[in-house]
Amino acid sequence: MSVPQLDLKAQYQTIKSEIDAAIADVVASQHFILGEKVKNFEREMAEYYQIPQTLGVASGSDALLISLRGIDLQPGDEVITCPLTFIASGSMITLLGAVPVFIDIDPATYTIDVNQIEKRITSRTKAILPIHLYGQPANMTAIMKIAQKHHLFVIEDACQAVGAKHFGRNVGTIGNTGTLSFFPSKNLGGYGDGGMVLINHEADYEKLRKLRTHGGAHKYYNEMLGYNSRLDAIQAAILSVKLKYLDQWNAARRKRAYFYNELFKDVEQIITPVEAKGNECVYHQYTIRVPREKREPLFTHLKDKQIGVQIYFPVPLHLQQCFAYLGYKTGDLPEVEKAVSEIISLPIYPEITDSQQEEVAETIINFLG
Ligand SMILES: *Cc1c(COP(=O)(O)O)cnc(C)c1O
Repeated sequence: MSVPQLDLKAQYQTIKSEIDAAIADVVASQHFILGEKVKNFEREMAEYYQIPQTLGVASGSDALLISLRGIDLQPGDEVITCPLTFIASGSMITLLGAVPVFIDIDPATYTIDVNQIEKRITSRTKAILPIHLYGQPANMTAIMKIAQKHHLFVIEDACQAVGAKHFGRNVGTIGNTGTLSFFPSKNLGGYGDGGMVLINHEADYEKLRKLRTHGGAHKYYNEMLGYNSRLDAIQAAILSVKLKYLDQWNAARRKRAYFYNELFKDVEQIITPVEAKGNECVYHQYTIRVPREKREPLFTHLKDKQIGVQIYFPVPLHLQQCFAYLGYKTGDLPEVEKAVSEIISLPIYPEITDSQQEEVAETIINFLG
């Protein structure tokens, strides 16, 4: 039996009539850019998150870029962040001429090691950009304490953590802004690219909104340099349908994750995910660790058996070629470097079945011997 890493077709089958009607509605209206569908979805997301405003944008990457422009990030400014993530968490900082300061991970949760943040703060530090990786919230309690003490902004990369909570609070709403991605494979995925800025009380909604449309609130009057980065109406209509199921899907992912934990509980060679105190994780990925020398052969074996697995991410940002100019070298951030040689993300999605999970677990356990 083959088991895909993610089965979006299975999800579509469960909501097909609603989705098809939502798309048809937009096509009939011929209103594709912003408009009612986007406004409705933004309002629904603000209600879901219990925050004043949200802003639909073209991608999660753009949500990060616009958030960083929102705090007026300048060339030479430093942003403290974590290197185990998708490239955009770091590259949006450098695209504005600022400097990402990469801090090692907490090896238990794969999120930023909050104990190392303060010693890396300088007079140029402007913000902290934690990543809630795999659906696990970073330690926002500690991060907010440090940020308040040093007067720093906080931008939460919640692209993998829609609906995750830290001590009952939604991640993405604790810092100044939070970013979401609606890339199709995310827990709340559209049928194309999309993203959102979650806007907390302290953030400047009007400024962020202008940045989305070339820096002006009114067409052809531009107060600042901005972008063309709008969530499109078809995506908003689809996402409004899917939002109704998000909590149910996230709960199913948690249940699925706990079932894997159970299947692997007696296997010494496997380290299963842990949830940090106060965290409600949404398991965008279910990532285990295996002994380093067995990771590559296991990866190949699972691919051969048509079990969908991935390495998120094979190269930490501080060792990416595009950041070579920052001067990091192998050995600088030992925990993340160790992690990337041991991690492997297994199939997980709300519709995966017990027998599929058993097949995945059995194949892994048999291979490890
Ligand atoms: C997906 C993702 C992004 C970027 O989202 P896009 O919509 O693909 O631009 C940023 N950060 C993290 C951690 C992500 O997983």
